Amino acid sequence: MTPALTNADLSEDRTALILEWSDGARIVYPLRLLRAQCPCASCRTLRDQPSNDPFRVLPSQLLNPNSDLAGVEPVGRYGIRFRWGDGHDTGIYTYDYLRELADLPEVRKATASEERHAP
Ligand SMILES: [Zn+2]
Repeated sequence: MTPALTNADLSEDRTALILEWSDGARIVYPLRLLRAQCPCASCRTLRDQPSNDPFRVLPSQLLNPNSDLAGVEPVGRYGIRFRWGDGHDTGIYTYDYLRELADLPEVRKATASEERHAP
């Protein structure tokens, strides 16, 4: 069973989201990474396009996504929805998905570095 989210907070420099879980895990997610991994259908489609097509025009949204966090709201008891600075808010990050993202090297690194700086 996926642990539940018990607390959410922004890092001091406001570049990462710190999530605490009912199993005691405390995981630091860089906002840029969360935005880049947006699970909504249109972002998924963009990510899944073959990258070897020379005629593909990369949408600026994907090249330089806005990773300012404008809002966070719970979705039932299973996920959260972020609203980004550019108004994009269609991705629902389920707890399952967030725990999957915790295994990414960038998240592990951010979590480890946050622990070092903790008082
Ligand atoms: Zn999206």
